[in-house]
Amino acid sequence: MKLLPEIKLSRPSNPADDFKWAGNDDRGQPVGHRNKLGGTPDWLQKGYEAPSCKACKKTMTFYGQMDSINDNVIIADCGMIYVFICFSCYDAAAIAMC
Ligand SMILES: [Zn+2]
Repeated sequence: MKLLPEIKLSRPSNPADDFKWAGNDDRGQPVGHRNKLGGTPDWLQKGYEAPSCKACKKTMTFYGQMDSINDNVIIADCGMIYVFICFSCYDAAAIAMC
């Protein structure tokens, strides 16, 4: 399994009104600011690991995580989507978690 360099993706400091968010998650982190590529997953629940590729059975590489956007576009309760890829088969998988 590869470990990709971590690149944090920031939201614009003045987002459009439709995408403003004032809420925080359980750790006090403002929702909508946890987007990143690479690094390791910031799992919201314990006990999760990268999935195995359905084709070759190797552990997939964490590619990135996408945060809830705002009150109108929220993944359950301040959740996120985690994306994984197999660099042998180029198959991808996603896990939604809240
Ligand atoms: Zn594979």
